[in-house]
Amino acid sequence: MTCVLCGGALSPHLEKKSPAGTTFTIHRCSQCTVWHLQPMASPAELAALYQNEYFKERSDRGYADYTSEKIYRSVVSTLAKNLGDLGFYSWEASLPAPKRLLEVGCAAGHAVAYFAGRGWQTLGMDIAHEMIEAGKRAGRNLVEADFLQHDFGAAKYDLITHWATLEHLPQAEAFLQKMRTLLAPGGKIYLSTCNTGYFARRYGVAWRYLNVPEHVFYFNRKSLAMLAAKCDLKVTRAFSYGSGFTTKENASLSYRISKKISDRLARYFLSGDMIVVELSQAA
Ligand SMILES: [Zn+2]
Repeated sequence: MTCVLCGGALSPHLEKKSPAGTTFTIHRCSQCTVWHLQPMASPAELAALYQNEYFKERSDRGYADYTSEKIYRSVVSTLAKNLGDLGFYSWEASLPAPKRLLEVGCAAGHAVAYFAGRGWQTLGMDIAHEMIEAGKRAGRNLVEADFLQHDFGAAKYDLITHWATLEHLPQAEAFLQKMRTLLAPGGKIYLSTCNTGYFARRYGVAWRYLNVPEHVFYFNRKSLAMLAAKCDLKVTRAFSYGSGFTTKENASLSYRISKKISDRLARYFLSGDMIVVELSQAA
């Protein structure tokens, strides 16, 4: 068995049961170090996962009532932090109008709304029907479509964002290839995904992002860089966050201190639960 991304040799790394009781094996590539799921769920099985319940009820994995105001504030707060760390705000200031954003995997379009509020021309795309409908009702410019099938005509984008989605996509490489063709000259892709850093290794099968079967790829800095290179892209910035400590209301002082120290270490050593990268055209 070989890695679908780089052709390297795969070896079994972890086994985990899905909520439906199927055991999946996660393999690790000896070459690019990506972990990937075997057997891989089909695109149709995965699409079915993201209709309705995923964003409403499965709060341990999906989102508890994703369209709520509280979630909006939390999404935008994380987004603004990530954008700051990506050097977005100074780059944005240097861009001439119109500034064009495409978000691939936008759910209800909370992030799309944030960019629209900053004067960007925005378009969000997702296959999750109820999310798109909820976002449209809130006045956001969203389209329910399969990104790989969608005809963008001559449209180009200064920024394409793809938050916490790549790990869900068996066609991850095709997604990145297509995003690159949609970039305007000097355009950037921002993406975040879960990171097989220190915490993933330490927690093993209990790692909080080891969600089978919906997470089909588990990346890190190296595997993302190799995948990007295959798509004529390069990683121009990267950072990591998340140390296994979730934000709790009314947490004790010692918990908050532990969380703060761990978060800093995760960031410094690029070993947190999540990795955020900026990709630019390679040539
Ligand atoms: Zn590989």
